[in-house]
Amino acid sequence: MLNSVDFTSLKRAVEYAANNSKFYIKFFNEYGVDAKDVTSIEQFQKLPFSDKHDLRNAYPLGLQAVPDEEIVRIHSSSGTTGKPVIIPYTKEDVDNWATMFARCYEFAGITNLDRMQITPGYGLWTAGIGFQAGCEKLGAMAIPIGPGNTEKQLQMMIDLQSTVICATSSYALLLAEEVEKRGLKDKINLKCGIIGSERWGELMRQRITEALQIELFDIYGLTEVYGPGIGIDCEKHEGIHYWNDYFYFEIIDPKSGEVLPEGEFGELVITTLNKAAAPLIRYRTHDLTRIIPHKCSCGRDYPLIDRIMGRTDDMIKVKGVNIYPGQIENVLCSVNGLSSEYQIIIEHFDGKDSLTLKVETNEGMDKTVLSRNVQQSFKNKIGIKISCKCVDIGALPRTEKKAKRIFDYRYN
Ligand code: ZN
Repeated sequence: MLNSVDFTSLKRAVEYAANNSKFYIKFFNEYGVDAKDVTSIEQFQKLPFSDKHDLRNAYPLGLQAVPDEEIVRIHSSSGTTGKPVIIPYTKEDVDNWATMFARCYEFAGITNLDRMQITPGYGLWTAGIGFQAGCEKLGAMAIPIGPGNTEKQLQMMIDLQSTVICATSSYALLLAEEVEKRGLKDKINLKCGIIGSERWGELMRQRITEALQIELFDIYGLTEVYGPGIGIDCEKHEGIHYWNDYFYFEIIDPKSGEVLPEGEFGELVITTLNKAAAPLIRYRTHDLTRIIPHKCSCGRDYPLIDRIMGRTDDMIKVKGVNIYPGQIENVLCSVNGLSSEYQIIIEHFDGKDSLTLKVETNEGMDKTVLSRNVQQSFKNKIGIKISCKCVDIGALPRTEKKAKRIFDYRYN
């Protein structure tokens, strides 16, 4: 098994949490769990999952598992859907995170001669500062510009000859389109993009790659588990390598909670192996992926998960069919002449669901023909009849943050 873990380190992680984390002492107690009973992987798989709402209930510092003097920093998840989750870090946690981040950069071929323009936000959340720490650990030059101010971004990119852009996929697309529009391609020196923080499809990848002529790498992570940097794809782009010296990954059926075999799609559940200030045991990420059941052709030993297909909470049910954003992108990919941007509008009329897909078409394409092709492909791949509205390229909003693509008006 590629995903196998030395059981001793898993057992040590469970015992550490059970003995040191106020959160897990209470949590395991509520579920009647005695860490001493966990003597096999099968017993480990019976431990209760921790979920974001459990972590929220520990607000502000209930997750802390070390004395105050060992905490050097906190980060916080956005809290847009409730109380934020605060994650404390020890000096060693911060250092481990930077080591993992530097490893990500190495997998992307970045060296200490590179100049990295870091556009994710700095602050309470984990993005900017994580990208920066990894960059410094590797010895590359950080340009800590943060998000926004496209004029300044382009100016820095030209004047400092940045070789790497770190961004969300939406912001990378926005910058790529500006570079194209202003004809700056010959003035910049980018060679690769490290793209994180939201799921993105093949078409968006192609558009950014074509506009900037760079290689893109998908970085993965979440605030509750250090932040971005816990995995990345390599030059073979066959999946995302993850650091099994720091984590144990499981894929579960999001409904039944049952552990699925390697190769099957489901929800990613993470256990931290060395995190001191806020260890997590069987944390539900709500990200949909699978463990790829073979080794990457690059020859590296770190196992692979597939690209994130969506969130269990982004799953929409229309006309009785479960739909993930990743499937919609597959449909768009199958029709020539579309851009990567889309919106989904779901309404309810006369007792029936209706789904309208708005897509951007490339210049000079026949919108009537494309609409028909999209409808046909959607019916073939997902199995339901939809309406499709083609709009001009650039008509849908671009954003520096995560793009909102699904508008469900059924229950309002
Ligand atoms: Zn590889």
